Amino acid sequence: MHATSRAGSEHMTADETLSRITILRGQTLAFRDDPFKVGPDAAVDFNSDGGVAIAGGKIVAVGQALDVIARHPDALLETYPDHLIMAGFIDSHVHYPQIDIIASWGEQLLQWLNRYTYPAEAKCADRAHAEATAHRFLDECLRNGITTASVYCSAHPTSVDAFCAAAQSRAFCMAAGKVMMDCNAPDAVKDTAQSGYEQSKALIARWHGVDRLTYAVTPRFAVTSSPAQLEAAGALWREHPTALMQTHLSEHPSEIAWVKELHPGAPDYLGIYEQHGLLGRGANFGHAIHLTARERSRLRETGAGLSHCPTSNLFIGSGLFDLHAARQGDAPIPVGLATDVGGGSSFSMFATMKAAYEVSQLKGYSLHPADAFHLATVGSAGVLQLGHRVGNLAPVLMPTSSSSTFDRDRSWPSACSRSTACGMPFSFR
Ligand SMILES: [Zn+2]
Repeated sequence: MHATSRAGSEHMTADETLSRITILRGQTLAFRDDPFKVGPDAAVDFNSDGGVAIAGGKIVAVGQALDVIARHPDALLETYPDHLIMAGFIDSHVHYPQIDIIASWGEQLLQWLNRYTYPAEAKCADRAHAEATAHRFLDECLRNGITTASVYCSAHPTSVDAFCAAAQSRAFCMAAGKVMMDCNAPDAVKDTAQSGYEQSKALIARWHGVDRLTYAVTPRFAVTSSPAQLEAAGALWREHPTALMQTHLSEHPSEIAWVKELHPGAPDYLGIYEQHGLLGRGANFGHAIHLTARERSRLRETGAGLSHCPTSNLFIGSGLFDLHAARQGDAPIPVGLATDVGGGSSFSMFATMKAAYEVSQLKGYSLHPADAFHLATVGSAGVLQLGHRVGNLAPVLMPTSSSSTFDRDRSWPSACSRSTACGMPFSFR
């Protein structure tokens, strides 16, 4: 339940409505800094009676509700006393064509791809199927408070057109790309080094930077992209440096062993991507569970980011991501939180944060709730190079709409409750 009060909002033009200030009043959660670095108390900005003023599609003020209201006395006021108002969640790694294979039984990564993933993705060659799937995917995102994601489409350009058009029509801030894969996969989901390059280039021209869309050059992984295709993907990223690059890295031991056979000249898994110009700021590597010390140090040196996909890693049985190793030290590796649907078993970022906590427990440390929320918002935004636009409550960022305010008791019923002891509105009690 929320209350809305208006002052003189009748008879306004569309421009006046857009520039009109709206204040969301409720319990606000934002980050002043990175809790991994400075600790939860210094990093978290929780306000039990906060206000967020929005105008023209952007946040213009954040603070104590009474202060924000006093500064904008004519604003439209929406009050959500029982809700938490925060930035929308950002899912930094997810596959929209896989929505129908969530929780499919009984396989680990390589068999999973053949038995479930590729047949599901093959259906996205059909525009009507891709469109319907894209809208269902976006419905689920919104239902779970995810307002931005980095999305793998299928190998078919039509799957990208369908997804981007759907996201654009609903004003989502999304990164997306056509999966490039030219070997070790069925014909129905394969391209070639040349066609993958040309199709991706045309999609960049069509969608990159349009409204709130960003293109991500997307070679699936070093099993299904030949050296020639990886080279073409590297060239494409060099030609379009403001685009992102996303791929998979060191997810499952059997995959890593195969990659070693396929690319015998590389120093390690990350080294394959590096050799082909696919390592640097704006690169987003999914999973990255079984990393060597050299790989971690190259990630630190280059500013590339990782996507932690805990429900997927547990469900497919891939392994336990070492968040502590990634985030420690003076130059932590940027890490975002991701559902990896359909390998991941839930669209819920609350379930994903809970799984991240459980994985960290098994790795010998306890992920603080502040760290979990930071990963799912600011952390993911950093990996996607979108921290200046989304991921936090701060002036000039795009707003958190009222649709991403949560009744936290409903959203995370048993895992989340008030705690003053840790200086956070949440604990895992
Ligand atoms: Zn994935």
